[in-house]
Amino acid sequence: MISVSLQRKKCIGCNYCAEIAPDMFRMSKKDGKSVLLNANEKGEFLNIRLPDTQRDAALKCQEVCPVSIIKVHDCKNP
Ligand code: SF4
Repeated sequence: MISVSLQRKKCIGCNYCAEIAPDMFRMSKKDGKSVLLNANEKGEFLNIRLPDTQRDAALKCQEVCPVSIIKVHDCKNP
């Protein structure tokens, strides 16, 4: 499992993550910022655990995000 988080408040709405991983991120029609789909909200952060099959796409999003607000970690506990 991996853990993906998004510090949504700082999103500049560039759309890169939603293009790379449309099943993980979607742009909000309300405020133009990215939404991490099905994620839990904790303070400024949206967080979700995903299977390893999503790792490459998540890492790509982490890499391209111009404001570095997407973070991907390995989960130790399943
Ligand atoms: S890549 Fe980063 S800044 Fe761009 S829409 Fe996604 S979260 Fe927002």
